[in-house]
Amino acid sequence: MSIILKDLCKNYQGLPVVNRINLEIQDGELFVLLGGSGSGKSTILRMIAGLTEPDKGSIELKGRDVTHLAPQVRDTGFVFQNYSIFRHMTVAENIEFGLRVRNVPVEKRRKRSEELMDLVELAGLGERYPSQLSGGQLQRVALARALAYEPAVLLLDEPFGALDVKIRGQLRRSLKEIQRRLGVTSILVTHDQEEGFELGDRIGVLDRGNLLEVGTPDQLYHRPSSQFVATFIGGGNVLVGELCAEGVRLGSRVVPCPDESALPGHLEGARVRLMARAENVEVRDDASLLEGYSLGQGSVAEAVFTGSGQRLRLDLPELDGVRCISPIPAYGQEHPQMEAWVPSRPEGRSFQPGQKVAVGLLHYHLLERTGLRSLILVDFVQESRVALDFGLRVSEATGAPATLLSIAGVHEREADVAARLVELHGSLLERAPNLKFTVRRGGLSEEVLKEVREGRHELVVIGEDEGPSVTRLGPWAQRLLAKSEVPVLLVQQDRPRISKILICSAAGEPGKGDVWLGGRVAKRAGASVSVCHAVSETTEPERKARVRNHLAGAVNSLHAMGVEARSRLLDMGSNTSVAQTLLHEMEEGNYDLIVMGMPSKTALATRLVRANSRPFLFVPMS
Ligand code: ADP
Ligand code: MG
Repeated sequence: MSIILKDLCKNYQGLPVVNRINLEIQDGELFVLLGGSGSGKSTILRMIAGLTEPDKGSIELKGRDVTHLAPQVRDTGFVFQNYSIFRHMTVAENIEFGLRVRNVPVEKRRKRSEELMDLVELAGLGERYPSQLSGGQLQRVALARALAYEPAVLLLDEPFGALDVKIRGQLRRSLKEIQRRLGVTSILVTHDQEEGFELGDRIGVLDRGNLLEVGTPDQLYHRPSSQFVATFIGGGNVLVGELCAEGVRLGSRVVPCPDESALPGHLEGARVRLMARAENVEVRDDASLLEGYSLGQGSVAEAVFTGSGQRLRLDLPELDGVRCISPIPAYGQEHPQMEAWVPSRPEGRSFQPGQKVAVGLLHYHLLERTGLRSLILVDFVQESRVALDFGLRVSEATGAPATLLSIAGVHEREADVAARLVELHGSLLERAPNLKFTVRRGGLSEEVLKEVREGRHELVVIGEDEGPSVTRLGPWAQRLLAKSEVPVLLVQQDRPRISKILICSAAGEPGKGDVWLGGRVAKRAGASVSVCHAVSETTEPERKARVRNHLAGAVNSLHAMGVEARSRLLDMGSNTSVAQTLLHEMEEGNYDLIVMGMPSKTALATRLVRANSRPFLFVPMS
């Protein structure tokens, strides 16, 4: 690994400009950091080069921790947007500058600069002065200069930003070729997604200091996880649909769930965001010609000729009621609209505004579901404060709104409970602007279950006393665990952050829900995951092999979600129980969150919870 950034942070005036960046870049890779202006791109590069001091975190270059080293000993080459070329030096002198300050003998310097001028296609221009060169040539000099002392890592900050389109294209191709030929690990920063696609082996998308997603250009274009990346890269259509037994409902239409998105059954009725790129929206003169899934009849609202094709805006009355995130609806627009791109049809007529057309979906993708909308049970005693703090931490980490729920018991007035809840809610709004609240009356577990059945929440957070351990996971909590259709988070003690998660996975089919949910939380919280399963010496070999397979599959799925994960096949030894083995692992690994299947018999869960005060996330098994 050439570059490893761990938890890298930088604040300016108390505001995070770079927020806990974790990134590993391989030897010889050309990595692109893509983000809008002010997203923190330059700050990250400057921290790697040693030009800006990080507030937190570490930087490793080629196995060496350089976090606190001076820039000149980090072995990085830097190319800036505004050519920082010495005006009073010739091209050759500029290129040789770094070698001269390192006391490299003259002949060696000459030889190197000749080589480099060949490489960057400036052969014969060594004696020229910068004022005699074009912008593109100046950037070639800057590149040659950065490469002169064979840096381990090349950093390029919008190197083509100041150039016109044609020169930019030429220089991109040169850069890619040079980078390949030298095999130098590079990070290029840009706000231009086309540039990112053309150059990047992988791309990391930055938004307001957060590294949202990392992937190959193809992954990020076709299968982005987040809405930001889906709309920032490439544009296209994002519609809010509803999961149903047959797939995804969009207004009066239903399309099947794409294979790649294995969604657990209990999410039926939940909202999902479906993304389709413009070229994957099919437009035909007649419905019988459709190859994709029909979205019914629409009409052309707008048609723009682009040479190779037509960019269309389509009105889709059959999708009435469907929320359209992208394209953003225009004021006064009557029906949902989608964008399509169709290749030119030299033999046929082009599409005209007002024309009736049949519209279908050829390919589409479901975005990762946002966060976990959580229901936090609050009863104004100490333990519920702990649940509240940790529950808010989970919803902050997953970016989902939370709802506070108070339940008025038989001897309480609902109005009194509501008044206290309003006060609490008001005091939390600054921390959680989307926080909602609700009050019910009746038995604890019954009311929570009723509230959950109404379908707005995906997670229930409850607190329990740290007090006498025999009472923890008492009767009402056990009733809730036995019946809840959504995961239940049990908090006994707050953890300041969620950075390590242990998934105690049942082997096989039932164990997929816990891996999936644990992974979702980990991804959002930037946590690493261990997936474990305990086996004993007497476990049959076939079963052990099955468990091993399951764990390997879990780790693969987690990696595919972009989560750091490892598996732990725990050997129980002869005298211990499953509970003891798991407890030992929980202590050893100092985990912030334990994820396990919702127990059908609560015996194991009860033992674990009573012997251990970490937060537990119980996931229903389908
Ligand atoms: P990018 O390169 O993605 O455009 P930068 O890393 O240059 O973004 O900056 C991100 C944000 O950090 C800027 O919008 C600015 O508010 C802040 N910032 C950067 N450098 C400084 C600085 N030296 N002092 C104060 N604020 C800064
Ligand atoms: Mg910048």
